[in-house]
Amino acid sequence: MSEVTRQQRRREARERIKVGRHLLGHGLPLQPRTSEIVAIAQVVKAKLDEAGNDRRASEAAELAQTLGETSLAARPSTQQKIACTRGCSYCCHTFVAITPPEVFRLAAAVRAGHAAGMTPDVVRERGRAQIGVSPEARIGGKLACPLLVDGGCSVYRFRPLVCRQATSLDVAVCIDEFEGRNLNAQIPISGVHLQHASNAHITLLGAMRAMGYATDALELAAALDAALALPDAEARWLKGEDVFASVPRQVKREARLEQAISHVAAALV
Ligand code: SF4
Repeated sequence: MSEVTRQQRRREARERIKVGRHLLGHGLPLQPRTSEIVAIAQVVKAKLDEAGNDRRASEAAELAQTLGETSLAARPSTQQKIACTRGCSYCCHTFVAITPPEVFRLAAAVRAGHAAGMTPDVVRERGRAQIGVSPEARIGGKLACPLLVDGGCSVYRFRPLVCRQATSLDVAVCIDEFEGRNLNAQIPISGVHLQHASNAHITLLGAMRAMGYATDALELAAALDAALALPDAEARWLKGEDVFASVPRQVKREARLEQAISHVAAALV
């Protein structure tokens, strides 16, 4: 690549980052332009590329999660009535798959004592019953997420994007799944929450893919166990070590989402 082209690309990245930071502070519309998603993904990529920062993966997750929150606050769901209430935790008993940076953010929150004061060992012990149980076997199995305490998420501020989008419009369907009944029923969820979380996911996964990181979603309990087992798991993962080698992953992602992630990754400089 010529020096001029390199300089142009650097300038382009700087301009995008400026736009991206502005958007991060104001949130995205429900149907953002591709250029807006790419601008934010450029900020996330710059974070993932930060030299000498061993926390840059969890900090990238924080950027994406904050984007989801800011976007929702700026453009909340007004049409659909959300059935979720405080203490309702049926969805915290299902197979939950999250991105590696989000696993590291959860692990950091646990280490810092934000998970209702639970130590890493306690969280690992609580997760043991879930590890190795297939998504199908989870239905009706009533196995709680290791971070669920007294019916509430102990790391609410740090919870992954997939948990942020789990907003049911019909609690009866959630109860059916929790009890292992009516297995073909689809839980109706808020389109607004889903779209904001999905946009945030695309910025994070697009940046990860552009940096050459695997974008598979990892089963929460097993991934958190792996991240808590090694004090320097995040630093190792950033260096390319597969610290999640034994963790089940969700291989199938919606084609539309997969395409959007690749499209954003290809557009990043
Ligand atoms: S991280 Fe929190 S919201 Fe997500 S499944 Fe676990 S307890 Fe529930």
